[in-house]
Amino acid sequence: MFCPKCGSLLISKNGKLVCPEHGPVEKEVTFKEKSKTKKDVGVMREKPEVHPKTKAQCPKCGNNEAYYWVVQTRAADEPPTRFYKCTKCGHVWREYS
Ligand SMILES: [Zn+2]
Ligand SMILES: [Zn+2]
Repeated sequence: MFCPKCGSLLISKNGKLVCPEHGPVEKEVTFKEKSKTKKDVGVMREKPEVHPKTKAQCPKCGNNEAYYWVVQTRAADEPPTRFYKCTKCGHVWREYS
């Protein structure tokens, strides 16, 4: 990282970047860090391992709680299919809405 004012190499001090000429440099650096964070969120979204829980009865073991997610399987004007996964036995089933 370099100072946006003078181009000096910035020194990391207590988690902040400090220019030897101008002192703490924050504004420009913060913007860059924000765009980096957005990228990280996008990466996390590609791993949908954790689904929200809902009240649904598992047809296999009778458990009353299941993870659910919705998948648009066919044409866009048709209702999406809701999938459930039992939190207890891991059984997956679907429900046509
Ligand atoms: Zn500077
Ligand atoms: Zn179950």
